[in-house]
Amino acid sequence: MDGGLVQNSQMAVNKETDIFDKCSKFTAAREAMAAGLYPYFRVIESAQDPEVIVDGRKMIMIGSNNYLGLTNHPRVKEAALEAVRKYGSGCAGSRLLNGTLDIHVRLEEKLARFMRKETALVFSTGFQTNLGVISALAGKDDIILIDKMDHASIIDGCRLSFGEIKKYRHNDMEDLERLLQQNNGKGKLIIVDGVFSMEGDIADLPNIVRLSKKYGARLMVDDAHGIGVLGKTGRGTAEHFGLEDEVDLIMGTYSKSLASIGGFIAASEDVVHYIKHFARALIFSASPPPSSVASVSAAIDIIEEEPGRRERLWHNTNKALNGFKALGFDTGKSETPIIPVIVGEDRKAFTMARMLHDRGIFANVAVSPAVPADMALIRTSYMATHTDEQLDRVLKAFEEVGRALGII
Ligand code: PMP
Repeated sequence: MDGGLVQNSQMAVNKETDIFDKCSKFTAAREAMAAGLYPYFRVIESAQDPEVIVDGRKMIMIGSNNYLGLTNHPRVKEAALEAVRKYGSGCAGSRLLNGTLDIHVRLEEKLARFMRKETALVFSTGFQTNLGVISALAGKDDIILIDKMDHASIIDGCRLSFGEIKKYRHNDMEDLERLLQQNNGKGKLIIVDGVFSMEGDIADLPNIVRLSKKYGARLMVDDAHGIGVLGKTGRGTAEHFGLEDEVDLIMGTYSKSLASIGGFIAASEDVVHYIKHFARALIFSASPPPSSVASVSAAIDIIEEEPGRRERLWHNTNKALNGFKALGFDTGKSETPIIPVIVGEDRKAFTMARMLHDRGIFANVAVSPAVPADMALIRTSYMATHTDEQLDRVLKAFEEVGRALGII
């Protein structure tokens, strides 16, 4: 015992093997801070509305996933307050043991009905939903096929599983078919983002469904950015294409249109029953708090009762997209309220974000590895609650900054 302790303390002072070395050598973020170009962890002093307060100053927010503008809606907030009054602030345990409330079960029933699936299961975050579901389903003899641009939580879910991971080129159906062919005869799960979170383009679901049937693969869609946004009634990417019955598993998060924090999977009863007993991110993590559950429930009611919100979101999306295109910006293949403005080099994107910030515009920056190298972009996203006047101010600021940087 003692020998071990002595040996450990000697190793701790041995610089070559100190696990913390990488921390002192990581200087990129500090350099960006020193240059005044660091765009992350900005502190907001107000609600996630079209206008936010940063450093005591009003800014127009075009970096939020609050697509339907529901995070500050009186009904959503009242539902949360009521739940806190009745159930308190937390569940102090996992769904499996002491953390299942009646409102968790009612929300699952509501989500299943809304997503038109047999059953739904709620998790504490969207990230955990992907970790739990994918690692529960994909065993050592299975193949998981994912789009190169799938969200980090899908990739990490794959890494946690014992399945073999195959990545295909972004939305490239020939590449997907090649991988499916190569892996005939094995259990296969295709996982795609319905709407890609940085590019704002939509998965080629009709062809993915066709290929999944041809090669006997199961299909999971992460519809974090599709639910509430796409489809005739806001049910997401599968509804958008009329393919709800063809997608085996639909994953969603509450952190976008559903105005809170948490996630869910919707699928057939037997699959959800299995996940419920094998998803470690569900079983060994506390359940979502009453306030979140109640907020999501109220948000779903509003989505069903007020289709005008989605219409307004699309009005704003089209105004921004057409505005950027008319100014000559490269918006890639976006067809949703996520509109990237592709800039190229990382430093240019950081400079652009800073200049936008100085003009009162809060937009996000995405650099490699979130996007391919030399495809750094300003990720903009819109809410139903933005006004035309706010969007005009956004476009004017982009025009000024884009010209100053020689981007347009
Ligand atoms: N999937 C996608 C496509 C996402 O964009 C995100 C969040 N950005 C998640 C999953 C994770 O969701 P959450 O924020 O609820 O953890």
